[in-house]
Amino acid sequence: MIGGLEIDLAAVRANVRGLRRLVAPAGICVVVKSDAYGHGLVPTARAIESDVARLAVYRLEEALTLREAGVRGPVHVLGPIPSARLREAVDAGVETTLWDAGTWRAELVAAALAAGRRAAVHLKIETGTTRFGLAPRDAPTAIGAALAEAALDVRGVFTHLAAAEEDVGTAYTIEQRDRFLAATASTAAALAERGAVRHAAASAAAIVYPSLRLGMVRTGIAAYGLWPSPWTRETARGRLVLTPALRYTSTLVVVREVPAGTSVGYDRTYVTERPARIGIIPIGYAEGIPRAASGRAEMLVHGRRVPVRGRICMNVTFVDVTEVPEARPGSAVTVIGADGDAVIGADAWAAWSDTISYEITTRLPSELPRRYFDREAELRSADAPADNPISMHDAGRSRGR
Ligand SMILES: *Cc1c(COP(=O)(O)O)cnc(C)c1O
Repeated sequence: MIGGLEIDLAAVRANVRGLRRLVAPAGICVVVKSDAYGHGLVPTARAIESDVARLAVYRLEEALTLREAGVRGPVHVLGPIPSARLREAVDAGVETTLWDAGTWRAELVAAALAAGRRAAVHLKIETGTTRFGLAPRDAPTAIGAALAEAALDVRGVFTHLAAAEEDVGTAYTIEQRDRFLAATASTAAALAERGAVRHAAASAAAIVYPSLRLGMVRTGIAAYGLWPSPWTRETARGRLVLTPALRYTSTLVVVREVPAGTSVGYDRTYVTERPARIGIIPIGYAEGIPRAASGRAEMLVHGRRVPVRGRICMNVTFVDVTEVPEARPGSAVTVIGADGDAVIGADAWAAWSDTISYEITTRLPSELPRRYFDREAELRSADAPADNPISMHDAGRSRGR
């Protein structure tokens, strides 16, 4: 094995249930875009579908993949869908996003009429993130028109917040909330009567701001056990426990004894200061190890932290295992996750490479082998035949390329 991911689906489920309790009576939508933030779209979705009000993805293809995999519940496509493919969305009973009061509504209505079924939609309102959305002043008319259109089944009205992850964003977040509430006030009763939910909060706001939970929250990162930011973690201390669901491991392929003065890797950015043992791991930035973390990152070998040395290469990374005498070819290396008492989180990689944990996990290539582990399913199958002692099953690649 060159390297691979282990995903604890019971941890994802526990995170989702913890979030659901925290935000109740608001409902919960779990965002599984970008291959479930690298965790694998289909296995993740299947593990939580019965615990959520709906799943959200960004692209139509992801929604169709979920349908093919047998996910029947509500699936909301947050991003744009080419006009020519709206019919596929309607046929699959997928919820689309409407942020254009004119042309796109007409196209969606046409797709619904052609399909002979109503098109499920959420209307999006732009309140200060400057992404997709109707201007707040156009929202009352657009929502009213969508509600009056027989071919449309309005499931929700939503917005997306720009600054909920940091305390300095509080005033702005409240401004966005107020713009959203004002833009939907005149239609709130009609929406509620149809069972359409108003939603605004992603993980950070869902955790930090009760007044933004509204009818439903859309949590991505927190469902995978990662905090949107250190501030959200501090703010939630004692109220919410999140368990990271993903482990990334590899193996030492070679351990080289080198004298002082040996240069390691491209560009000679690291030269040993003393005799050292340099371990070589067969994964690099093509396998999702951020090159920007070169010279700063650490990994775990035999339960101990070892420094990454030199430049991270495309398919190779070097670690200094001088302090770990038992390290040898075949020794396991933990890139993300725990080994004994030592832990390296996706957030540590984010700090080492000046990014956010979201980017660390979503950039783990879908080609990396993913093994799924589900303690709860194991308990359920405890009376299964004894010759089937599987605690891990290989679900293979979750998404082809
Ligand atoms: C990605 C996304 C989310 C989830 O954000 P997290 O911070 O991961 O919880 C919610 N809403 C929209 C519109 C998104 O694009």
